Amino acid sequence: MQEYQGKAVFGGIAIGKIFVYQKDERRVKRTKVDDVEGELIRYQEARETADKQLGELYEKALLEVGEANAAIFQIHQMMLGDDDYNESVENIIRTQSVNAEYAVASTSDNFSQMFAAMDDEYMQARAADVKDISERVLTVLGGSDGNKMTFSESVIILADDLAPSETVQLDKEKVLAFVTVHGTVNSHTAILARTMGIPALIGTPVDLSVARNNQFAAVDGNTGILYLEPDDETLQGLKDRQQEEQEKREMLKLLRGRENVTIDGKEIMLYANIGDMKDLAAVMQNDAGGIGLFRSEFIYLGRDNYPTEEEQFQIYKTVAETMAGKKVIIRTLDIGADKQCEYFGIGQEENPAMGLRAIRICLMRPEIFKTQLRALYRASAYGNLAIMYPLISNLWEIRRIKEIAKEVEQELTLTGIEFTRPQQGIMIETPAAVMISEELAKEVDFFSIGTNDLTQYTLAVDRQNPELDAFYEPNHPAVMRMIQMIVDNAHKAGIWAGICGELGADTTLTKEFLAMGVDELSVSPGSVLPLRKIILETDTRSI
Ligand code: PEP
Ligand code: MG
Repeated sequence: MQEYQGKAVFGGIAIGKIFVYQKDERRVKRTKVDDVEGELIRYQEARETADKQLGELYEKALLEVGEANAAIFQIHQMMLGDDDYNESVENIIRTQSVNAEYAVASTSDNFSQMFAAMDDEYMQARAADVKDISERVLTVLGGSDGNKMTFSESVIILADDLAPSETVQLDKEKVLAFVTVHGTVNSHTAILARTMGIPALIGTPVDLSVARNNQFAAVDGNTGILYLEPDDETLQGLKDRQQEEQEKREMLKLLRGRENVTIDGKEIMLYANIGDMKDLAAVMQNDAGGIGLFRSEFIYLGRDNYPTEEEQFQIYKTVAETMAGKKVIIRTLDIGADKQCEYFGIGQEENPAMGLRAIRICLMRPEIFKTQLRALYRASAYGNLAIMYPLISNLWEIRRIKEIAKEVEQELTLTGIEFTRPQQGIMIETPAAVMISEELAKEVDFFSIGTNDLTQYTLAVDRQNPELDAFYEPNHPAVMRMIQMIVDNAHKAGIWAGICGELGADTTLTKEFLAMGVDELSVSPGSVLPLRKIILETDTRSI
């Protein structure tokens, strides 16, 4: 048995086989070949296989997601047939007498850099496509099926770290736990684990080259320990505790259907955070009163091109209908910083957390924003939907958003499309927004405090840097005072204020939040019932 002490970001116990997720860092070696003609044939055959795969993917997508979404595979087929691309690969093989893998990888780098440097946004987005088709050819040349993220049975994922664009590709039903070597408490892998209600460890010093796929393991999300090949005694102890936890969960289920009211009659809205339609089952099981944060950017991640209005509409409509009249707050896309999407063509930034992200992208590229708003407004006819905007720091931003939203309303009205007028809220996650919250409150219907970012920007601590965990204190007095200020300014303007950052789930602070007058807490589905228990036991007169 080997033990590794990591840092627990979500409790629970998982027992099962390991899946080692190695980043697709395909280091292509340059080797000299004697048989140049043979190498050219190898390339042509791989290219034809890749083309055939794309044709099949197109047919499948056509049936499942429609023409508009399937079109990307046709574009990839066209690019794969492009003369310039092929000539470049063949030329490198011929003139340098090198292997096909090297020629494809070099062409991929050269062409993608060329596209990325173009002025036209459409052409910039093609950089990701060139990489994609080249990866496909490289996979065929290497004889792998390229299907790295689906599993035949449930697994414990072991990885160096996982980017949001990687987690979206996971077959989530089959994930028992996450264990990462790096990552922070506020990384999106941690948030995902909490949403899924499964154990997760970060900062676990495992040597990924030593751990093997299918190795038997156990994760203790309470102590933060990963056991590789646990001995019988350890395993039995973990199984007993797993059973106890299950019993506790059953007890909490008795609180389903109860209202979130304190002993002295204070009621609080207790909602859930989600990132995917699949999380709706957990929302129902845990009896959340609504959805306080749907991270819509996950619809944009892990794909090659922008989701269409229709595709987004179907998702928002399903969520609104499933929640059957309960509040559904959808946050507009929060791309940027750690949530990178290549096809957005945002170049390298010195300081991405302070760069082009979230609402800034939407205001600079209103065509992307309008597509999402149209989908949201259309879906508003199917339930109790509200829209929330991330990373606001100026009054003019919300005014401009309202102008754009008005244009969307007018366009929909002109085309006779049905919609209701969704409530409009903003996230308070910059110190600037806190300081002008009195003015902002007059412009919107609600505030939702994003403590994950508010902490990073207030304390000047990168939420993604594990070295700084000791300095990243979401309950720092500065943040707590800011929360009070936001709540007071919201109430002065007659609107409500909630918390949708991870701090909202901290049960040691629930009583304090209630005393501060926080109106809503939006947490991962698994935290709803534990919070309800505390609310029911609280008397704010004695805090
Ligand atoms: C936050 O910043 O607190 C938040 C809820 O948004 P995200 O974690 O997605 O940045
Ligand atoms: Mg945020």
